[in-house]
Amino acid sequence: MEKAKKRQFGIVATLISILIFFGAITIMAIKANTTHQGTDTLERVKNAHIMTWGVKADTKLFGLMDTNDGQIKGFDVDIAKAVTKQIASDLNITIEPIFVQVTSSTRIQLLKNGNIDAFAATATATPERKKVADFSKPYFSAGQSILVPTKENIKSVKDLNKADKTILGVVGANSIINIKKFAPKAKILALNDYAQAMTALKAGQGDAITSDNGILYGMSMENKGYVVAGEPFTNEPYSIAFDKDQVPITKATNKALDEIIKNGSYNKLIKKWFSKVPGMNWRSLER
Ligand code: GLU
Repeated sequence: MEKAKKRQFGIVATLISILIFFGAITIMAIKANTTHQGTDTLERVKNAHIMTWGVKADTKLFGLMDTNDGQIKGFDVDIAKAVTKQIASDLNITIEPIFVQVTSSTRIQLLKNGNIDAFAATATATPERKKVADFSKPYFSAGQSILVPTKENIKSVKDLNKADKTILGVVGANSIINIKKFAPKAKILALNDYAQAMTALKAGQGDAITSDNGILYGMSMENKGYVVAGEPFTNEPYSIAFDKDQVPITKATNKALDEIIKNGSYNKLIKKWFSKVPGMNWRSLER
């Protein structure tokens, strides 16, 4: 009786060990699969021959939907195209860039969800964002400024630092955080995107919009009676973003940026988008 019990126990113990062994092997296999195939952005782009970019669609000069042909157009879109072409040529393969609309508040989440491989969306590589995303070297120099109605006699951000002033901005933009330092007395109203912020300014819901100078110049071109006032009061270098720990595609992008700067394509894009913008010192943007 005693012997039979021992034998039974032995069989059960062996079966449990076998189960644990195969269980561990399965978990290891799943892990290896996700680390090496599922999540490496450069591998995914290489295999799919497609690179999905998040770009703005409400931001003239950087990414704006052209309702005539349904294409998003702007400097960021052209940079994304040039970088994709350069990476493809460096790898000796073809890669087609595809564009998805993002806003200041959706861009990081869409990247984290895997809906996009990268974004070129007027984004500053802030220390906060660097905790959750990887960034390329800067590809454009911007600085925060204000857009005001011409008739209002607002000369600089200092004129907005009053309790009866309301400054409009966009959710997810660091501009609405920075402005608290430069006009701490003013009220801040954050809208969902730049189109809504402009509508709110025109409706008198605020005294100014704060964002980067390039974005505001684009808005002033489209809206007579609104000007960029004063000098930029922050530095906002734009970078291309990837999901966290995507070293290979970040490196490939930095190399591509160096190459398009060296071969003159970068300066052609600066001239194309900014040389006709009233008030913008586009020559200082050349590299
Ligand atoms: N560059 C700033 C940022 O990354 C403001 C522009 C924007 O809203 O995208 O937040």
